[in-house]
Amino acid sequence: MGKTGTVYLVGAGPGDPDLLTLRAARLLERAELVVHDGLVDRAVLALASPQAELISVAKSRARHTLPQDAINALLVREALAGRDVVRLKGGDPLVFGRGGEEAEACRDAGVPVEIVPGISAANGAAAAAQIPLTHRDASSVVSFVAGQCKGLSEQDWSGLAGKGRTLVIYMGVKTAPQIAEKLMADGLAPDMPLAVIENAARPSMRVLRGPLAALPDLVVQQRVKSPALIVIGEVTSRDDVAVAQFAEMAA
Ligand code: SAH
Repeated sequence: MGKTGTVYLVGAGPGDPDLLTLRAARLLERAELVVHDGLVDRAVLALASPQAELISVAKSRARHTLPQDAINALLVREALAGRDVVRLKGGDPLVFGRGGEEAEACRDAGVPVEIVPGISAANGAAAAAQIPLTHRDASSVVSFVAGQCKGLSEQDWSGLAGKGRTLVIYMGVKTAPQIAEKLMADGLAPDMPLAVIENAARPSMRVLRGPLAALPDLVVQQRVKSPALIVIGEVTSRDDVAVAQFAEMAA
């Protein structure tokens, strides 16, 4: 038997190639095979070696091109055949990226795995929009939640948002109305400030702000599209721009 390849689970960050780690850039430069998600920006893929084979396992809303089991099987098969695989994922592989499942599948098959962290959307968006996720005067807790995981109603979000806390919601554009309703039912003030950051760290980035109660309207009126994050908490309304935008939306 020949040598087994290694699977590298690599974070591609939120979009801007300058936000890749050096490790990620170096692995891409010498890659033979890159298996990537739809979220990975084209500018990042452009850094892959011209000889590399690129396979997209993008999930579109209409259809799942490859179910997770098939992705796991693909990684394992290629590695067992002796190829190193760069498995490139948006943001960080271990934040809502199923990196844990892919690593498990590799370990179960005896395939060596290395995980290369990436800048998660929350960190990329916070920096690009200049929103501190924590702040000595405004927040000492930050939570990341999935807005779309197996039935929103089953999730217990109590205590995650509110005074002195920051809540970052991934995958929450479609469920924004239910999210606002759920948080207010849990006792969050309707005028709690929030920001929606669409296409963070990309040229098309937008930062929209308003009170929690206006979230459903904000998403519809501004035609917010995925990928976007919803950040809820006082940290989103600390600078002058934020205060002005918030007042406009609250009016
Ligand atoms: N592993 C990724 C998250 C994958 S889940 C990470 O660590 O960032 C996909 C969700 O991430 C999207 O629905 C969106 O909420 C968020 N997201 C990813 N890239 C983004 C970007 N450039 N701007 C805003 N949100 C983004």
